[in-house]
Amino acid sequence: MSDISALLYLVASVLFILALKGLSSPESARRGNAFGMAGMVIAIVTTLAMPAISNYALILFGIMIGGIIGAAIAKRIQMTAMPQLVAAFHSLVGMAAVLVAAAALWSPESYGIGSGGEIHTGSLIEMSIGAVIGAITFSGSIVAFAKLQGLMSGKPIRFSGQHMLNAAIAAGILFLLIVFCASESKIIFTLMVLLAFAIGVLLIVPIGGADMPVVVSMLNSYSGWAASGIGFTLGNPLLIITGALVGASGAILSYIMCKAMNRSIINVIFGGFGQAGAAAEASGGGEDRPVKSGSAEDAAFLLKNAGSVIIVPGYGMAVAQAQHAVREMAKVLEDEGINVRYAIHPVAGRMPGHMNVLLAEANVPYDSVVELEEINSDFGTTDVAFVIGANDVTNPAAKNNPASPIFGMPVLDVGAAKTVLFIKRGMAAGYAGIENELFYQDNTMMLFGDAKKMTEEIVKALKH
Ligand code: NAP
Repeated sequence: MSDISALLYLVASVLFILALKGLSSPESARRGNAFGMAGMVIAIVTTLAMPAISNYALILFGIMIGGIIGAAIAKRIQMTAMPQLVAAFHSLVGMAAVLVAAAALWSPESYGIGSGGEIHTGSLIEMSIGAVIGAITFSGSIVAFAKLQGLMSGKPIRFSGQHMLNAAIAAGILFLLIVFCASESKIIFTLMVLLAFAIGVLLIVPIGGADMPVVVSMLNSYSGWAASGIGFTLGNPLLIITGALVGASGAILSYIMCKAMNRSIINVIFGGFGQAGAAAEASGGGEDRPVKSGSAEDAAFLLKNAGSVIIVPGYGMAVAQAQHAVREMAKVLEDEGINVRYAIHPVAGRMPGHMNVLLAEANVPYDSVVELEEINSDFGTTDVAFVIGANDVTNPAAKNNPASPIFGMPVLDVGAAKTVLFIKRGMAAGYAGIENELFYQDNTMMLFGDAKKMTEEIVKALKH
């Protein structure tokens, strides 16, 4: 690699680091994205300008096919389907790692790592680790995609001896990896990759729907390490750095999400996690018990007479795209001198930061958006908790029902507010499929309807 290429790769790496730093806060996220795009343009142009690259027609053809498919998906995809799209993309990174490693094994001369039967040991170790992580990422992401897309049940699939089986397969992979590095056998390589595909499935099937956010961020981390592995095989330092950045940031995000959901990171990595609710049967909503329901006018009356309001957005707000109506409602209340804040649960919605993105889109001021641990103690002194399309993230079962699949997850204490308003279309359960006792509480009023329509009606009622 020429000095100029190395220098440009360094510039791209720094831009990627700045991108990650920018993405750590909503205020700087746009700048972070711009850094990332600039880094990627520099990386692609530098790579294409390298003397080893000769077949531009084939590369352009590949970019065109990928670009058309990617653009078509990006245009059609709903924000709420983002987690499964991300899982699907991770599976492609994993498969790419497997294919690059296989290509390097079958044609080592093209990669400058030796010749058939005499591949450098270092390269054999790199390609086998890259292939194993890639295969785990591929099959694990496919299962995560199927669960999130509803193609398979979101319920944990567990059987006796599961951990022993996983441990045996992991030991088998390690054994085959050592034999492969000593023998360079293509059959051993294939067996090793097949076992890695199998363990990828086994690691993700025992994880229940409510714990999926952590899985997605963990697979994000795996895909980064797989890409880093490809970087070693291809001898490309930028890919090694970028993969490591994705791997490390995904691991940190997984850790943060685990803390938010009160889960153990070790259990996540080894696939046995979410056990708290293993014995629990999800009891979906819709029970025939009386609830107090009200109209938009009733809600407007309560809100207008409040001194403080905390808005709790959830998945339903995203589905209904109600964020602009919510912002308008907050503005009307603020103009009346009412203190309005937004409480954000780390796993509200269907992807990390989902609610922050929607509220930022509606120009909600960042300083009125408050994280769970900062705002939770304030519900007790709040007049109205306005819960819009959120359910699991408010469910007290997480605190008082050890058999619940969400037991142990910190939840927003909305029940402590003087009045709780819940906007949702009916009595259906949330993502975790469990009943929410708050709906039946004396200080709760259900506002049945689509989140956007109901909020717009409340705004209308407030203005009159
Ligand atoms: P939730 O528990 O899934 O509840 C959302 C509620 O919104 C539902 O009960 C639904 O009730 C209501 N709803 C749906 N469409 C609506 C509409 N158009 N208008 C009004 N209401 C509507 O959501 P959450 O409280 O945000 O909790 C998130 C859940 O997703 C957690 O269990 C979390 O673990 C999981 N999850 C999170 C992520 C992440 O990264 N954030 C990723 C994957 C999974 P009705 O049908 O009765 O209207």
